Amino acid sequence: MTPPSAATARSSASRSTTRSAKSAARPKAAKSTAKSAASSTSAAAESGQAAKSTGKWAKETRLGLVRRARRINRVLAETYPDAHCELDFDNAFQLLVATILSAQTTDKRVNMVTPELFATYPTAADLAAANPEDVERIVQSTGFFRAKTKSIMGMAHALVERYSGEVPPKLKELVTLPGVGRKTANVVLGNAFGVPGITVDTHFQRLSRRFGWTTETDPVKIETEIGTLVQKSEWTDLSQRLIWHGRRRCHARRPACGACPVAPLCPSYGEGPTDPKVAAKLVRSEAEALDAQ
Ligand code: SF4
Repeated sequence: MTPPSAATARSSASRSTTRSAKSAARPKAAKSTAKSAASSTSAAAESGQAAKSTGKWAKETRLGLVRRARRINRVLAETYPDAHCELDFDNAFQLLVATILSAQTTDKRVNMVTPELFATYPTAADLAAANPEDVERIVQSTGFFRAKTKSIMGMAHALVERYSGEVPPKLKELVTLPGVGRKTANVVLGNAFGVPGITVDTHFQRLSRRFGWTTETDPVKIETEIGTLVQKSEWTDLSQRLIWHGRRRCHARRPACGACPVAPLCPSYGEGPTDPKVAAKLVRSEAEALDAQ
């Protein structure tokens, strides 16, 4: 079956994507990007296959790949104009804590526990001095609560001891903090500091492979490779758009290809149902997407 035109698919997609009152009231820093935690090794298995090397993209040149990547980014920007980090936060410290807590759970779940956590421990010094059992009780519902408590308190200790309680705005410093890897660091850099960063979470891995942007499975290599395709100024927003698209349409299993705005640009079109009616039923609403990891 032939993919739909970009205009037709985009029009359909835009109708189902509306700006929420909640996000409209969100601090400016929150509107640009990030989250989602999951194992870096699962993307290849979830996507089922690497980028296809057959079809009309079999002889795609490097220039063609760059142009197609940027067109996909533009279509996703039109489709998800409000794509943003779905974790609630008011400052870099809160986003760092929330991102660590988001591993293996939903942003929605994290947002349910952080109001009490941040009210009880508003600063790194407060969290570093907390009773671990009290913190565990608050974050329990996010899962792996003992390990997460250890991570966020260890991170808070490190901030107090090495950075006067402030979150450093540099990748090389962020990744030295307990519980903080490149993915978490890039979320914080992009969304709290406005420093462009590519967040290679499970959705980003799966989609970048389906788009044929990379065949890599290592997150750092993916980050480097995609960084050469798309302008640096777009890195943070691109990350968020792929995460939103992954949560709403390009699912690990049964992607909604027949209701996908980037279908005409996607070598993996057909990996999911192409019938528009069947595909439309696979598209998650905003509320359903919030419940997705
Ligand atoms: S066409 Fe299918 S595989 Fe490609 S991005 Fe859209 S939903 Fe994902």
